[in-house]
Amino acid sequence: MAISIYDIAEQALKAASTVRDVRGRMLAPEARKQSPVFNMVQLAGLCGAEKTAIAYRLTRNELPSGVVNDTGRRREFTLAEAREWVRVFRAKMAKPKGAKAMTIAVCNFKGGVSKTTTTMTLAQGLSLRGHRVLVIDMDPQGSLTTLFGILPDTEVREEDTFVPLANGDEDSLDYAIRSTYWDGIDLVPASPTLFTCEFGLPARQMKDPEFQFWNVLNGGLGAAREAYDVILIDTPPALSYGTVNAFMAADGLIVPTPPNALDFASSAQFWTLFSDLALNLTQTTGVDKTFEFIHVLLARVDHNDAAASVVRQWISATYAEKVLPVEIPKTTVTSNSSAEFGTVYDVSRYDGSASTYRRAREAYDRVTELVEQSIQAYWAKTAQ
Ligand code: ADP
Ligand code: MG
Repeated sequence: MAISIYDIAEQALKAASTVRDVRGRMLAPEARKQSPVFNMVQLAGLCGAEKTAIAYRLTRNELPSGVVNDTGRRREFTLAEAREWVRVFRAKMAKPKGAKAMTIAVCNFKGGVSKTTTTMTLAQGLSLRGHRVLVIDMDPQGSLTTLFGILPDTEVREEDTFVPLANGDEDSLDYAIRSTYWDGIDLVPASPTLFTCEFGLPARQMKDPEFQFWNVLNGGLGAAREAYDVILIDTPPALSYGTVNAFMAADGLIVPTPPNALDFASSAQFWTLFSDLALNLTQTTGVDKTFEFIHVLLARVDHNDAAASVVRQWISATYAEKVLPVEIPKTTVTSNSSAEFGTVYDVSRYDGSASTYRRAREAYDRVTELVEQSIQAYWAKTAQ
């Protein structure tokens, strides 16, 4: 029997309802996402100090003292408390007065290359280094929003997203910023209604030749650039109007690229499409856009895949110094924890082997460290 459009519509309803059920159960209101807690050793690690230095500082009673747990032996600090400590110990690494938040877009037109995971882990990693991070979800699928334990379909209204700014109903994106379960990270969520921008932005351009469809997000971030240290933008796997806005708002780009042949080929397409678009904008409108950096991030590297080393060579031959000197391994830590909508930084206790966890954690920490260096170079440039 032939399958009609009505059958497909019915199928769509069923699939959507299953997804809602599953997510609803995982992220039930009573099961809201929790941020991790830290013991003394972990706190010392975050502060880049010896445990004895932390213990000494505790005796001076100037910083949050955490709580001693039931057994009376372990002192634990909440994320907010730990970040207070970090901001004191890493004061030199903080955004200097007068400097602007660096805006970084994570992009690649291919889906599944770990854009969203990279955005989330980078936000968490930077916040654990004391920075105040704003993340903006520009993907109508709202995967990043979901990682924060928020359901894009039911818990995000159109007016909570980029849409009012895109429509010209708001001048600043501030209305859409909300705090999250993670101290130090605020979020502008996404929902499927972001798709409307794909019609709304070109329609505004048709009506008003002076309008700059590519500059809307950039224009809405003025206050956020003062209030935050870093702004991270997660983009959809498409060259959409939303993605163009993310590019034009960004001071730096991170392009996660797994070392396999198909992903390499599609990242080549990414650069072609991106440069065609940028050249077109430059030639027709005189837009003059520069980036402080483009980092190609080797992501989801499968060390058992013999072909990976060949493709890795293509990648370094092609992108040369743009390739970050670190690899994110393909790891069960990430895939297991994302089944619960989390990342390596959300995992307090990993059931698998300690070395698997450590390897993944060290890779993400290293990416954070490298990106923090790029950010500091930018701050130094923008500080008065
Ligand atoms: P994108 O945003 O580019 O579509 P995601 O970040 O959503 O990619 O990642 C796609 C899938 O790959 C997700 O299921 C995610 O949990 C998984 N993933 C991401 N990074 C890794 C990794 N290092 N190892 C294993 N799985 C990963
Ligand atoms: Mg994504």
